[in-house]
Amino acid sequence: MRTLTPKVTAKARLKTMVRAGLSTLLAASGGDRLIGRRYGGQGVILMFHEFVSSPVDTLGQGCPVDHFDAILAALKASGRDFVGADEALRRLTDPEARPFVVLTFDDGYRSNIDLALPVMERHAAPATIFVPTGMVDRSINAWWLGLRELAVTCDVIEMEPMELRLECRDLRGKQAALELMTAWVWQDFARADLLAPVLVAHGVSMPDLVDRLALDEAGIRAADRHPLVEIGAHTATHRALRLLDDAAVETDIGDNKRYLETLLDRPVDWFAYPYGPPSIGGTREADIVRKLGFRAAVTTDPGGLFRPHLNAPYLLPRQNAEVPASPVSHALAGANGVFRALSTRFGAPYDCPGDIK
Ligand SMILES: [Zn+2]
Repeated sequence: MRTLTPKVTAKARLKTMVRAGLSTLLAASGGDRLIGRRYGGQGVILMFHEFVSSPVDTLGQGCPVDHFDAILAALKASGRDFVGADEALRRLTDPEARPFVVLTFDDGYRSNIDLALPVMERHAAPATIFVPTGMVDRSINAWWLGLRELAVTCDVIEMEPMELRLECRDLRGKQAALELMTAWVWQDFARADLLAPVLVAHGVSMPDLVDRLALDEAGIRAADRHPLVEIGAHTATHRALRLLDDAAVETDIGDNKRYLETLLDRPVDWFAYPYGPPSIGGTREADIVRKLGFRAAVTTDPGGLFRPHLNAPYLLPRQNAEVPASPVSHALAGANGVFRALSTRFGAPYDCPGDIK
């Protein structure tokens, strides 16, 4: 096996600086609000995962809780209301409705309640938490957490599936190693299944790790009873749906819906696709989600919400708001549809089949 000491590349560092600089510049010049007139839509759905007190412990991953507080304060100051997911759909039917923000957290982390909920309470901001069954019953292959734990706890990682021995003795090296391993899985999600022996060999127990970080059944039930929290579906196993045949996709999504509905004793109407676009074909998964009786589903495509989204609300755009080391202006730029504008090279502000109702 080849030995490698991964480093954060100059290109990656430059990308982070440009991203931060661009949103700061847009906010200072009012350019983000100008773009927002065409791309912002009536509101936006924001995506978060974990929350952290100190991002050093998680190698920079997760949203620092004081940053979350600052994002919510800035969104409120920009004249947006915080609303639940269903109210967002209602507002799309009303051209006079005030602009809005929907908060969503994926995967069901304990930190959603321990750290984020007090901030949500201060801002009276509701959130939908999308929960895979495997996270709750500890059966999930949360490979992204496993890789992070490897990088945090080991100075040398024997990464056999990559035929690499990774040396990562300091914080920057560990961040670079994690980035390298994560990108390798994202290139082909089937590789996630090759990691279990690596974790075992380095003394990382996936069930223990998930137990430490994720809400259990009692926690999910208690969260759902809170007036500001709603639980949504996120598949049973959190695999990339593109890897599965039609019947397996239906089972993975349907089993999770039924599990949560039994646990919570109420309908679960919202769904989030694991990993977003690289992991789904699109129409096939959207058809299955509709057939299973969901009201709506969210992707990770950036962009605002527009009235025509109501015609087929099964691939709603959702803006990532937890980009590491980003300024608050990054979240505001996202809410203004700046990243949709950039990713389409100032093309159409939304994709949506069908006519406007
Ligand atoms: Zn997820």
